[in-house]
Amino acid sequence: MGAAGTEIEVLCPKCKVPMNFYSRTERTSKSDGVEVKVTRYYKCPVCGRTIIDEELLIRHSQDGVSITVKHNGLRKGAIIREVPATG
Ligand SMILES: [Zn+2]
Repeated sequence: MGAAGTEIEVLCPKCKVPMNFYSRTERTSKSDGVEVKVTRYYKCPVCGRTIIDEELLIRHSQDGVSITVKHNGLRKGAIIREVPATG
């Protein structure tokens, strides 16, 4: 990674192993434009448990672009551990 600092490690609440980070993009055509939904989530490689970190809803229409961000309480659903960044 880049600058030194603190990174977070997300652990599965059940297995206590680091979860993998994924980002999924869905594009939907609407009558007045295009809607893009980006879901950022963590998934446990052991039990397959998924915890959504945040969702971004980006709407392109004739009026312009609007972005809605929804945070989903990752800190409630998973174990967050702060680790010093290396390199
Ligand atoms: Zn797990």
